[in-house]
Amino acid sequence: MPDIKCSVSECLYNKNIKCGAPMIQVERNGSSSADSSDHTKCETFKRN
Ligand code: SF4
Repeated sequence: MPDIKCSVSECLYNKNIKCGAPMIQVERNGSSSADSSDHTKCETFKRN
């Protein structure tokens, strides 16, 4: 797994502003076609 910088420190998998999950799933955020990063979301997020 490559280094993934993530600032969502309240996520269970976040360690020192990096993602520590063995894999992550990213999906479109509502819209059927993403035009920018705002239209994507991490499905693996779990509240710490
Ligand atoms: S699972 Fe998603 S939200 Fe959580 S640390 Fe990894 S990239 Fe960030």
